[in-house]
Amino acid sequence: MAPAMNEKNSDEKTKGPDFIRQIINDDLASGKVKDVHTRFPPEPNGYLHIGHGKSICLNFGIAEDYKGKCNLRFDDTNPTKEDQEYVDSIIEDVNWLGFEPEVFFASDYFDQMYAWALELIKSGKAYVDSQNAEQMRENRGTPTKPGTDSPYRNRSVEENLELFDKMTKGEMEEGSCILRAKIDMAHQNMNMRDPAIYRIRKESHHRTGDKWKIYPMYDFAHGYEDAIEGITHSICTLEFENHRPLYDWFLDNVSAPCHPQQIEFARLNLSYTVMSKRKLLELVSEKIVNGWDDPRMPTLSGFRRRGYTPSSIRRFAREIGVSKVNSMVDINFLQYIIREELNESADRAMAVIDPLKVTITNYPEGQIEELEGENNPGNQDAGSRQIPFGRELYIEKSDFMEDAPKKFFRLAPGREVRLKHAYFITCDEVIKDDKGEVTELLCSYDPATRGGDAPDGRKVKGTLHWVSADKGVKAEVRLYDNLFTLENMDDMEEGKDYKDYINPESLVVKTDCFVEPSLTQAPAGRGYQFLRQGYFCADIKDHSPEHPVFNRTVALKDSWAKIQKKG
Ligand code: ATP
Ligand code: MG
Repeated sequence: MAPAMNEKNSDEKTKGPDFIRQIINDDLASGKVKDVHTRFPPEPNGYLHIGHGKSICLNFGIAEDYKGKCNLRFDDTNPTKEDQEYVDSIIEDVNWLGFEPEVFFASDYFDQMYAWALELIKSGKAYVDSQNAEQMRENRGTPTKPGTDSPYRNRSVEENLELFDKMTKGEMEEGSCILRAKIDMAHQNMNMRDPAIYRIRKESHHRTGDKWKIYPMYDFAHGYEDAIEGITHSICTLEFENHRPLYDWFLDNVSAPCHPQQIEFARLNLSYTVMSKRKLLELVSEKIVNGWDDPRMPTLSGFRRRGYTPSSIRRFAREIGVSKVNSMVDINFLQYIIREELNESADRAMAVIDPLKVTITNYPEGQIEELEGENNPGNQDAGSRQIPFGRELYIEKSDFMEDAPKKFFRLAPGREVRLKHAYFITCDEVIKDDKGEVTELLCSYDPATRGGDAPDGRKVKGTLHWVSADKGVKAEVRLYDNLFTLENMDDMEEGKDYKDYINPESLVVKTDCFVEPSLTQAPAGRGYQFLRQGYFCADIKDHSPEHPVFNRTVALKDSWAKIQKKG
């Protein structure tokens, strides 16, 4: 779990540069590197998630810190799963986080990669293997048992060139042969046992069309992409640590213009969340969620729609820092950050999610008055707004109790409370339907308490939010919660699937809510604090002044349990 927040904050000032910046500092000091150049290399086979967000903030953050450069490079070397939609969404997300990089495509380097593959063949360092997949798997050995050389390993350079040419021209069947590096089948690092370089894939690529019948493998391609762009520090996640010797081997054995340095850091794992692109794609394609930008998704587009700001994601990335050890970050830490930010920046407003009608019997019929409410008590500059008040109002159902215990400081028969920015009211009578359900409260107000204080100095313990029944606007409110019920999704019970842990209450839609009229003009995505409820934003896709739709970004801490229970 993430360290306690306060600890983190004070840590920030005392701790020095992280281990990656330390390496960069050393490289600059020794003269090994002059200008720092990083890259963020997503494969366009899905939308970006917050783990990518961490990597983006790290790579672009380093470029900013060192006045260097960071490329956005699409690692589009596998035609089967890639798509232009993903390319567009990734650019949008990177821009949203506040970075506007130059964009590159690995597929633009296919000719150069091909030339380097030929170099490897000509120097006897690569060969065409005609074993089938099963034979190759068998001959690869195990971590404790060395592999066995392929019977095709000693093909002549001429024969290899000829076969590779046939592969290239599409004259060979998919799976009939591959180009492999000739390294060492007995190497203790399995990645070094003659890894694949090119395989046959007769598929159309989203950028190169049908030009290529063969596509390069990740380990072969990645270092070359870095070298072509002059990357100095190639930062990736820990799983690639034991691929590094291979990264280096490929660069050392061709005429590459430079040799970037691969550095690994621990990927971000977040509690109650899955981050694998395969699983996220499944959630979308099986319609378990409503698209990649469903506000429950850990995608950047999901967080955006949920009401998270770029600055909150950047702060989160900065505060969790980078390390060499895999760990799990508590999702509450992320929620704490957005809550803190919105507490300062968000205007306050009133919305009733589960309405109960209140009639003020001694208030003139047909009269509406405008009351003033400050937008943000912590920020005078935020100004104020007019809130219409009239004879008929809505309050929250949970703010009334018929047989209330003494400690219930909200409304109950005979008790007096304050309506925020308005008056004191007292509940005189409870109206019920046939089934005995409370449908309306008849109350009286004290005109002398306008603004919220009694001239005679009497006190009330409770202050309720409310919305005018006449002037308030009907709205839809979507209450979001964690998508999964298991804190550590790597700890699933045996035989269970991640889909067995979907939280059935991850989305509760309330369609009979009422919001104060000013909220119909809420700009999409802007955060508001709904008094006593939490932080909400107008939905980017579905909100309109005629049909307001608000998403709950995060609950106020103390109302969390309450709203959940009301469901
Ligand atoms: P896959 O390779 O399985 O498709 P991926 O999540 O690694 O999934 P990439 O598009 O290759 O997807 O990732 C782009 C960059 O983001 C890589 O440099 C990768 O290391 C980094 N990255 C991916 N997931 C995380 C994570 N959870 N935390 C930090 N960085 C991540
Ligand atoms: Mg990857």
